[in-house]
Amino acid sequence: MTQAIIVHDKQFVPYISSEEIEKQVSRLAREIERDYAGKRPLFIAILNGAFMFASDLFKHLEIEAEICFIKLASYKGTKSTGKVITAIGLDEELYKRHVIILEDIVDTGKTLHEFLPQLDHNHPSSLKIAALLNKPDSQIYDVKVDYLGFTIPNKFVLGYGLDYDGLGRNLDSIYQLTEE
Ligand code: 5GP
Repeated sequence: MTQAIIVHDKQFVPYISSEEIEKQVSRLAREIERDYAGKRPLFIAILNGAFMFASDLFKHLEIEAEICFIKLASYKGTKSTGKVITAIGLDEELYKRHVIILEDIVDTGKTLHEFLPQLDHNHPSSLKIAALLNKPDSQIYDVKVDYLGFTIPNKFVLGYGLDYDGLGRNLDSIYQLTEE
């Protein structure tokens, strides 16, 4: 891997190489194949961050499977509901499907904690989460990641789909913010 990089005003150092990512993504694909053979799972990839993870994981899969891509938007609900998360682009019928959410990173867990119950309303046969990264030290909301690539400390990362203010998604490995 190359040296430290500057993105906008911040410096990042190499953290997880593309080879390590490839190895873990391939392992996740094998685990999912083992659990979902014959079930034709439906993957729901959450944009923007999960696009590269979703693409690589899907390429590695050798069972029948479907995939769709959604964007989550949060808007102000009523006073009692607070902010409400809504999915844009979710046209698939989830009833009686085996659904696997593909997420780039679980940080506080808020996003998935709020979004999963909405999917559950559609009564899928099963609902699981596959995430490339998890930061257990910053998790506040109870979210169980069923298929996990890497556990990482509570430090900002970018690359492999993850951005810092719009930039860095194209990097094929993951970088970590240097200490300030
Ligand atoms: P949560 O709702 O779990 O707190 O946050 C999840 C979302 O926050 C992720 O999907 C991602 O977009 C963003 N996020 C959390 N930690 C990081 C990080 O270290 N780097 C980047 N680029 N995004 C992050």
